Amino acid sequence: MRPTYTGPCPLAKKCGGCQLQNMEYERQLHFKEGKVRALLGRFGRVKPILGMEYPYHYRNKVQAAFGVNRHREIISGVYQSSTHRIVPVDSCRIEDRAADAIIVTIRRLLKDFHLSAYDERQEKGFLRHVLVKRGFATGQIMVVLVTSTPVFTAKKHFVAALLTEHPEITTIVQNVNPYYTSLVLGKQQKVLYGPGYIEDVLCGLTFRISAASFYQINPVQTEVLYGKAMEVAGLTGKERVIDAYCGIGTIGLTASRLASEVIGVELNGDAVRDAIANAKRNGIRNARFYPGDAGEWMEAMAAEKEQADVVFMDPPRAGSDRRFLDSLLKLAPSRVVYISCNPETQARDLAYLIQKGYRVRSIQPVDMFPWTEHVETVVLLSRKKVDGEEKFPA
Ligand code: SAH
Repeated sequence: MRPTYTGPCPLAKKCGGCQLQNMEYERQLHFKEGKVRALLGRFGRVKPILGMEYPYHYRNKVQAAFGVNRHREIISGVYQSSTHRIVPVDSCRIEDRAADAIIVTIRRLLKDFHLSAYDERQEKGFLRHVLVKRGFATGQIMVVLVTSTPVFTAKKHFVAALLTEHPEITTIVQNVNPYYTSLVLGKQQKVLYGPGYIEDVLCGLTFRISAASFYQINPVQTEVLYGKAMEVAGLTGKERVIDAYCGIGTIGLTASRLASEVIGVELNGDAVRDAIANAKRNGIRNARFYPGDAGEWMEAMAAEKEQADVVFMDPPRAGSDRRFLDSLLKLAPSRVVYISCNPETQARDLAYLIQKGYRVRSIQPVDMFPWTEHVETVVLLSRKKVDGEEKFPA
């Protein structure tokens, strides 16, 4: 049973992070399903959206900006949408509760230790951001203190005090970001406590998560999403699979147990390193990961007359470019599973693939981000059969 709706979050207007706070959860699901139907309905029947049983506190990664208010008091929270004004937040409906509590403690400890928060206007002060990541399945928690300088007075005592109040923390990292930038993390990093990373379990596999690496922020729904992606891919153990835009390899590694071979391609070199380490960590031998542009990579595969049976593609919000789509057409896998976080660009890409001989076989929306306007979709495409079977299955 979902808890009863008690009205919008009091911070909704100022924070701007959740656009659907004025809607009760069932209505949000209806709204998102309608959005997907409006954009993708012309390609086939849109299945009912898969929502969350408990659509609260689902975010495993929480980020708080630190600063000072008019009275020079330390505040922490989120930036007001498209500004750099901090809206103070102590607890949030969608963030992990343990992470929120840790952030409040850090704010108090700063005062106790006479440490300052960063003042963006004066470009002065010590603590800029706190990032907390929690492995929901393992319970491991990482705290990243983003500071403006590497000099951290009373560092040992501060860390000890934080651990006394929150023994659940498994690692603490100091990240130094001295730049005038809206990026949260800087390049320099120092582990203050524990191994410097956490692990989480997703779809039965263990993934290592470091301060900077990308990891899905709603692990509960990620399992639902990947489950659907695997189901529609119809893997039998014999297929050669490509995981395009693979990130740290979560989709490819999940598929590796159901396929003969997996090849993952990803632009970000750090993520590729994580993907390779994740394969090793889980004893997976039939998955390889490469850095590069997914379109360029598949173009080269096609030129060398390499083949692939199934391509999973999970591009960023902008969707895929022509080069990628054309390389996909050259490679001509029998099935394509297109996972998207933006149905608008997905609609554009699907229209192109359909025009060139693919057919949409199923459309499944999944709610990965309750209370926000975002919606994720899994679309299965397969090549139009020569014998003319073109109908969209009911
Ligand atoms: N499939 C992963 C990551 C999806 S996010 C997961 O579910 O966790 C999209 C990823 O595409 C990002 O990691 C981004 O770095 C990568 N990317 C962006 N443009 C790319 C390109 N042209 N070629 C390959 N990867 C790209």
